[in-house]
Amino acid sequence: MKGKVTLVGAGPGDPGLLTRKGLEALQNAQVVVYDRLVSPAILALMPETAEQINVGKQAARHPVPQDQINQILLDKALEGKNVVRLKGGDPFLFGRGGEELELLAAHGVAFEEVPGITSAIAAPAYGGIPVTHRDCCSSLHIVTGHQRAGKELDIDFEALVRTKGTLVFLMGVSALEAICTGLLKACMAPDTPAAVVERGTTPAQRRISATLTTLPAVAAEKQVESPAVIVVGQVCALAEEFDWFDKLPLKGNRVVVTRPKERSGTLSARLQALGADVWEYPCIATVPLDPCPAVDGAMERLEEYEWLVLTSPAGVEALWRWLEGHGKDARALWSVKLAAIGPGTARALAGHGLKADYVPEVYDAAHLGAGLPAGGKVLALRAEEGSPALTEALAKRNIPCDDVASYRTLYENPRSQKLREAVESQAGLLVTFTSASTVKGFVSTVGEDADFSRMVGMCIGAQTAAEARNYGIPVRVAREATMDALVELIVEGV
Ligand code: SAH
Repeated sequence: MKGKVTLVGAGPGDPGLLTRKGLEALQNAQVVVYDRLVSPAILALMPETAEQINVGKQAARHPVPQDQINQILLDKALEGKNVVRLKGGDPFLFGRGGEELELLAAHGVAFEEVPGITSAIAAPAYGGIPVTHRDCCSSLHIVTGHQRAGKELDIDFEALVRTKGTLVFLMGVSALEAICTGLLKACMAPDTPAAVVERGTTPAQRRISATLTTLPAVAAEKQVESPAVIVVGQVCALAEEFDWFDKLPLKGNRVVVTRPKERSGTLSARLQALGADVWEYPCIATVPLDPCPAVDGAMERLEEYEWLVLTSPAGVEALWRWLEGHGKDARALWSVKLAAIGPGTARALAGHGLKADYVPEVYDAAHLGAGLPAGGKVLALRAEEGSPALTEALAKRNIPCDDVASYRTLYENPRSQKLREAVESQAGLLVTFTSASTVKGFVSTVGEDADFSRMVGMCIGAQTAAEARNYGIPVRVAREATMDALVELIVEGV
């Protein structure tokens, strides 16, 4: 059976700019062949089982020559594989996508193309530059500024200037001076607004605005590097007014997210949407205890309990795993009332069609124990090393409680030198902690002997903050233990 190749445009960098069709192709891929310009956040979306082939080209260095890339695609497809060829921006715009399809077509291999959002339009857009505007121009021209070694630029500048349209140059950083000189010689007005947008749509985006005359010097001074687009035309004058991306509240701020992998998504996405440069370091993982005689026993006696208490989404998932593993569903919980420590846990319950009968006003173990409506016996299904605050508060009220571990938190992370360097050298580096266990996981990832005094731990609640202080981490605490409040705290803190 012959496989198939799907050429997918990954967009310019912001993972949100990958199309839905592109994402679907990526998730179904058995082999992914990708380039240097595809962002790590998009690479993280491919299935773990997919074979990953990096054919990334570095400027002036081509680790995998084009004909070899074409051959890889053909060979993998002939093996019967579902191949995705992932390329930055749009595959057919200066992406050599056409060349890659020729060999496939010649061999009768099936292929598809999923267009991507091109940097030629998106990078200016994120820099506040609409590539056309009725008042300024009536055409857009996308030109390659790539210069073959030792050759002159092959661009008809007179023709470009005559169009009076917006000009966007890709691959033009090293030829910037030649491009501007070419346009000036072709009699374009020297004060024509011009801009460079570097690493467009990523947290590291920089826009440099100048005029056609001054742009080369300003860009050199600011040490502009590839990838960057050069934009020339009146539309560039709109950038100051329209630059929404640079004005995002967290733009220019790095935030480390330590949540477990399966739960980091929403927090990271929200911080990214606010412009943060998010580093995901899932510092803990949770695994249900299986087999677990203590949980089996408690679940068999479930009717003896008045309350079933859950203190994290991981606890809800472990409970659900247990039910499924025993051929049961939510109906097995008919006899108990459900308590959740906070809205996140209540939402996890709701995801299984279950309503939390009680959520404390302050979302922590102590308030849960103190506020749980009195009644019969309590069953707490939670992490192995759950906070004693819950059981202590219940004991004070003479409420009997069986505290049963249903999952374990793992801290075994590889040491990260990169994270350690950032923690020690970047004053004010923000690190989010959503539980005391994420603090422990973070410390084990960085190394307990590191200097934590320059970073700031953004903590979801008092217990988390107390754990962080134990390691000498300066902290700030959210006004309540929710993701909303944590995000608010981060925005206020920068
Ligand atoms: N197919 C791609 C372009 C490939 S050519 C697309 O449609 O975007 C590579 C050039 O694209 C780079 O030299 C640079 O000019 C531009 N480019 C790619 N990603 C970019 C980004 N995030 N910001 C600015 N320019 C980018």
